[in-house]
Amino acid sequence: MKTTAGISRFVLLSLLLLSGCSTGTVYRALKLNNSPSKVMNPAFLDSTSSLISQTDFNNRIEELKRLLSSDFTVEQHSYFIIVSNLSAEETEKVTAGTIDKAVDCFYNNYFDSRPSEPTTIFLFKNDETYRWWAKKLYDDDDLSRYGYYKPFAKTMLMNINTGTGTLVHEMTHALVRYDFPDIPSWFNEGLGSLYERCSLNNKQILGYVNWRLPALQDAINDKSYTSLDKLFKTDYDEFYGNRSDVNYSQARYICMYLQEAGLLKNFYKLFRDTYGEDNTGKTQIEKITGKTLNEIDQDYVKWVSALKYE
Ligand SMILES: [Zn+2]
Repeated sequence: MKTTAGISRFVLLSLLLLSGCSTGTVYRALKLNNSPSKVMNPAFLDSTSSLISQTDFNNRIEELKRLLSSDFTVEQHSYFIIVSNLSAEETEKVTAGTIDKAVDCFYNNYFDSRPSEPTTIFLFKNDETYRWWAKKLYDDDDLSRYGYYKPFAKTMLMNINTGTGTLVHEMTHALVRYDFPDIPSWFNEGLGSLYERCSLNNKQILGYVNWRLPALQDAINDKSYTSLDKLFKTDYDEFYGNRSDVNYSQARYICMYLQEAGLLKNFYKLFRDTYGEDNTGKTQIEKITGKTLNEIDQDYVKWVSALKYE
């Protein structure tokens, strides 16, 4: 995501690889959250206003209002501009039940640096309006049915009718870029996809086993599994290449493996802070676990093999 060409390619691949930023979406905040509507905590708004200029918000909001039909609401909210054709009540449920909670978790658990630009989040009520507006605004088609993130446009388009798992996945990408700008693809997608199925309680985000598991277990069983060392060395093209489904799964479950050992947050911070010394993550994971990568890999494969996705 460092160059325009890279970003365009990222977007293209995101669209082509439907497994990329899509989910089986088990986590559904719409159903889980029955709390009454609440307004943003003013202290929280203060912490964002210092980094994102009000002019940037206003310009983007004006632009969106010019482009969109009158059935959309366009509201500034924390680091985001929330564009929705859901009812006000449903929009509030997604905003309070997922977006605000995810932000609280990410900044409590992982990120220090806050966004300097607003991100636009479209919440589309159904597949039809999601596809129609993706085509109209960005000439995008052949979409994931769940939603996607356009890094260069700093915009997320979500078919929220499918649930909110992908929303948290894409929010990971939308926020991590300000905290760990050079994060390698394997770790960016590992974290994002870990949170496709998650809980967001008490400012702690936790990922759970999801539909990506069988791709990895199948690779282990048919001996096509390749090492964590190889995953960590994948560049952008290799990660999103023809083994992307296994790569996503391997990356997701090494993040979950570290989470279960209570080491993921420390690994994230050490990797971010010492990226210049080792841009693969190998040195950092060895330091955090006290094991060699080869030892970690053996333990990881055993752990993954025993997981069950139901
Ligand atoms: Zn992703």
